[in-house]
Amino acid sequence: MQSGEGGLGMAIGSEEPWLGGDFVICRLTAEDGTFGLGEAMLWLPETGASPEQIISIIRDCLYRYVIGENPFDIERINRRMDINLTRNEVAKGLLDIACYDLMGRASGRPAYDFMGGRQVKQLQLAALIPLMEADAMVWLIEFFYEDGWRTFRLKLGRGIEEDVTIVKKTRDALGDEVRLRVDYNQAYSPEEAVRAIKAIEPYGIDFAEQPVEATDFVSMAKVQKQVEVPLMAHEGCFSLHDIMTLVELGSIGVVGINSERPGGITKALRAIDFAEERGLGTVLHSQTLGIASAAQLNIVAARHDSFPYETELFGHVMLEDDLITEPIDYSHGTATLPEGPGWGVELDEEALEKYATGPTVVITEG
Ligand SMILES: [Mg+2]
Repeated sequence: MQSGEGGLGMAIGSEEPWLGGDFVICRLTAEDGTFGLGEAMLWLPETGASPEQIISIIRDCLYRYVIGENPFDIERINRRMDINLTRNEVAKGLLDIACYDLMGRASGRPAYDFMGGRQVKQLQLAALIPLMEADAMVWLIEFFYEDGWRTFRLKLGRGIEEDVTIVKKTRDALGDEVRLRVDYNQAYSPEEAVRAIKAIEPYGIDFAEQPVEATDFVSMAKVQKQVEVPLMAHEGCFSLHDIMTLVELGSIGVVGINSERPGGITKALRAIDFAEERGLGTVLHSQTLGIASAAQLNIVAARHDSFPYETELFGHVMLEDDLITEPIDYSHGTATLPEGPGWGVELDEEALEKYATGPTVVITEG
């Protein structure tokens, strides 16, 4: 996939290559030694924060609202983090995720039990197709199709004519059975975006991700008002407030969430439920390592009826290795929820040591 545009088929015009992202792993240890795991993925052009900044804001501030608390008091922990530190959803989300794993491990229950229970055990996934020459993209789609995948996210954005060629060739090759979604990674101006989306509308597109500049919610609204395909915000969408603003402005028709955005499990559930009440579907999308992937599978399993769009978890395909001991079962375009307390996965200490870019930072009370 690295042969794709901008490293991994990313059309974002940044000088920072997307090499799989940087990750911060958090282990939250209780007094009795029980611990919970969290994972956050970072990429500077998107998250605007480095791993060191995430660790720093926890060490300098956020630890105070977590250490000494009971992980089951997750609403109180979130409230304390929010009133004492604005923004920083990724750092707060990392701690929130670790709290849910700790709740599970402390009680011997899977984490989805703290989200209303499990609706499904296995999910269908969407495959991510990087921006390449049209024929190479269709070849890759057919490769995944043969393996059982039926939903594909196509990276577009190098030009309207080429976008149409890619989508048309895909439909010609695979017919109407497959579901398609597209991601522009902010490639277009609002006017171009309208023309680009209208040009592919006849081919049946579930939703179009981030066609214009990430923080330009107003332009997103202008585009959404002129096209039928629902829009989804990615790079510019960090908080629950962002999601609500985008919905109120009419900027999006699909709510996209990750694990650590809009701020962990607690806020992800609020976002999903908000979208459901507003009649919008949610899609979960991020290319994470095993801890966050397991967390995201728990979210979708607990709210499956609110996800009309297949889950996009592709880290296991894109990344060369993982930091969990037993891999999650991804076969033929599905993901099976790991069994066990919390997220149901264990940290691979050896792999962590192998890939760590710095020493473990230990934060204790005071
Ligand atoms: Mg995206």
